[in-house]
Amino acid sequence: MSLYRLVYYSANRISTEFATFQREVEQILARSRRNNDLVGLTGALMFSAGHFGQVLEGSQAAIEATFERIQQDPRHGEVSLLEFAAVSERSFNNWAMAYVGRKAGASDTFPTTNVFDPEKITGDALYSKLRSMVASTGMVAS
Ligand code: FAD
Repeated sequence: MSLYRLVYYSANRISTEFATFQREVEQILARSRRNNDLVGLTGALMFSAGHFGQVLEGSQAAIEATFERIQQDPRHGEVSLLEFAAVSERSFNNWAMAYVGRKAGASDTFPTTNVFDPEKITGDALYSKLRSMVASTGMVAS
């Protein structure tokens, strides 16, 4: 199977009232992990000062079908595709969808500081950032 990687960012449309945001992100992650597992997708998601950044990796068909649904989701908008390219191996092998940026404190579920600048970020830079954040948190598969 040829392997592909898709990288995008989008603007948050979920209320940033803490409990609401937390609930919605947990629901997105639960759905993502279930759905992605079924079609062999792996990847990572982060939240940064009003924007989501995400990497998806897997077959072209699985990525396209999933990204089609993601783009229709009213919980975010202005979905901007940064990269969709063939790759030789997975970088988030153990993760149907890792979520990074969260620290121990509950209020860090949605950091208000900029982890990336959507005006300047490239696909490669966003992918590298997510990869290093997953590695540095020492995450293990859910
Ligand atoms: P259900 O979860 O049952 O949803 C049915 C429909 O209702 C869908 O159209 C869904 O978009 C909509 N919906 C569900 N809950 C809400 C809500 N609280 N508010 C508004 N509309 C709602 N999905 C994946 O499968 N893989 C991913 O990697 C992934 N990443 C995502 C990243 C981001 C930033 C966001 C915002 C969403 C992501 N999603 C992902 C979710 C995706 O957009 C769809 O909601 C999901 O795939 C639909 O799953 P389902 O078919 O099981 O339907």
